[in-house]
Amino acid sequence: AHEGILRRQSARESAARTYARVLPIVPVRARGLTIEGADGRRYLDCLSGAGTLALGHNHPVVLEAIRKVLDSGAPLHVLDLATPVKDAFVTELFRTLPRGLADHARVQFCGPAGSDAVEAALKLVRTATGRTGLLAFTGAYHGMTAGALEASGNASDVRVARLPFPQDYRCPFGVGGSRGAELAARWTESVLDDPRSGVPHPAGMILEPVQGEGGVIPAPDEWMRRMRRITSARSIPLIADEVQTGVGRTGGFWAVEHSGITPDVMVLSKAIGGSLPLAVVVYRDDLDVWEPGAHAGTFRGNQLAMAAGTATLTYVRENHLAERAATLGSRMLAQLHSLAREFPCVGDVRGRGLMIGMELVDAEGDCGGLGGGTFGGGGSRDGSGDSVGCEPLNHEATQAAVPDSRPGSPRPADPELAAAVQRECLRRGLIVEVGGRHASVVRLLPPLTISDEQAAAVLDRLADAVETAAR
Ligand code: PMP
Repeated sequence: AHEGILRRQSARESAARTYARVLPIVPVRARGLTIEGADGRRYLDCLSGAGTLALGHNHPVVLEAIRKVLDSGAPLHVLDLATPVKDAFVTELFRTLPRGLADHARVQFCGPAGSDAVEAALKLVRTATGRTGLLAFTGAYHGMTAGALEASGNASDVRVARLPFPQDYRCPFGVGGSRGAELAARWTESVLDDPRSGVPHPAGMILEPVQGEGGVIPAPDEWMRRMRRITSARSIPLIADEVQTGVGRTGGFWAVEHSGITPDVMVLSKAIGGSLPLAVVVYRDDLDVWEPGAHAGTFRGNQLAMAAGTATLTYVRENHLAERAATLGSRMLAQLHSLAREFPCVGDVRGRGLMIGMELVDAEGDCGGLGGGTFGGGGSRDGSGDSVGCEPLNHEATQAAVPDSRPGSPRPADPELAAAVQRECLRRGLIVEVGGRHASVVRLLPPLTISDEQAAAVLDRLADAVETAAR
């Protein structure tokens, strides 16, 4: 059955398939961290539906919530009508929101995917401000629909000004840490304030508190606060895309909590549906300028997804899984740092909570500069295209902010090695994602329920895979 299914699906499905190309498995059963294939093989799943499964596969509270709706005879599809199931979801969601937002928030149910919610958020700020321009960041990933794409990675659109996202490794300014973040913030200010930049007053700024598809790049807290001050001072709505970072993943219930900022708009999907498709936008109520029907969609709010989502949000909150993600994530990062010391091909290890990335590099290589593209775009297989360097804005005032000396060039990204590590992991029964702007980052997104023993097994297999791939 296993081989036949693989063969038929690869013959009939679109060339756009991604995960199925590199993970030739046929999952038939799953529980928690474990997936079992049609061939009887078992895997530890650190892909988790691209970060969707906060509680792992088929968690009992999620299954029970779904069963309860099914057994109750409640309708499964009612457009955007009011239901008890939706009432419970919205109540629990508002309970978790950052206080500054929860007290004056509206929630809008969108089409079922993260991209749908991104689309609604962009349209919302454009409608509310009457402006069209957007501020987005290098390496960003916001989805694959037309509007989400223009805000992602390298996609360039006259309406989108692309700003440098701060990072330590492969820092566009050649300096990481607080200095790099400061330069990135100053770049943003001068783009907004210097008429020579040619960027009109924008409708909004969209950012990920930790870039996921872009290669697991956590934004420094101080930079997040700067972006909040910069946008507040200029009445620019700030949109936090927490599609991947939300629901405890990074060690706070929402990743914006680390910096303490309150965004004007939050885009939520993935884990909020407890493994079923669900996406919402939450925003300050004074932005709620829609005419009825100005943004509609048949599948706004699947009842089963809302029930699974309520169960997930409640479980994460009551069992303090965000705190658990923070402590376990730090421990796992520390162990990966020792791996990096042992293997020169592990160029960088980074992350926040249980959103972890390990960048593979050519240990002998030399970039002779900034290490693989200055303003590279985001995403890879699941991302927004090739990692063609995207020119920084040709803007004298901001160019002046870039220092001449660029110390500590990272070594060249090694996408082939990352792919080899992924293959070796799979041979050892471990499923990991590969992403990043150079497709060189092995990513771990385990469920927040992963036990200490399971985390140790994951790291053992990963270390073993690196050792073999590096040979
Ligand atoms: N935003 C972010 C931050 C994401 O990581 C993703 C998906 N990886 C999306 C938006 C798009 O979500 P979807 O794939 O459900 O459309």
